[in-house]
Amino acid sequence: MLGKVAKKLRLFGFDTEYLANTDDNKIIKRGLDSKRIILTKDKQLHKRLIKLKIPSFPIISENELETLVIIMKESHINYVYSVPNENTRCSLCNGTLDEIQKPSLVNVVPKKVFENTSMFFECSNCNKIYWDGKHIKEINQIIDKINKEIKQV
Ligand SMILES: [Zn+2]
Repeated sequence: MLGKVAKKLRLFGFDTEYLANTDDNKIIKRGLDSKRIILTKDKQLHKRLIKLKIPSFPIISENELETLVIIMKESHINYVYSVPNENTRCSLCNGTLDEIQKPSLVNVVPKKVFENTSMFFECSNCNKIYWDGKHIKEINQIIDKINKEIKQV
C-alpha cells in the first residue's frame, strides 16, 4: 500500500523515495543523508526513529486516501494542486517531468490519445510519457477528496 501512496505523492509533486524490503539501518541512513521524512508502517522502526530524533510519520491506516490525508495534515499542507502541476514527478522513478512537443509523439503514444490530447510530459530520467488522460482525471478526483479533508476553516 505504501508503494501506491509513494506513486501518488510523486504525482502530487513531492520528492519521494520508496524503499521496499530494505534493512532498517539502511532506511535510517538514507533518511538522514537525504533529509527526508520517513513514512513507515513498522512500529519498531518508528520507535527507533523517535529516539534518534529523525522526522518520521507512522502509517497506521490501511486506507490509501486516509493515509494521504494524514500525511498532508502531518506535513501542515492544506492544499494539494491538481496534476500535472509544475512539481509533478514521475510516479515510477521520481524523476522530474518536462513538457514535450506533440509532433515528436506521433507513433509513440496511442493514436486516439495523440488526437485528443494537447499537453504531454516526459520523465527526464526514465522517459515515460504522461498526458492529461483518464488516469490523471482519477488522480485529480483523489486530490479533490484530500483537499476537502485538509482545508482549513
Ligand atoms: Zn521516470
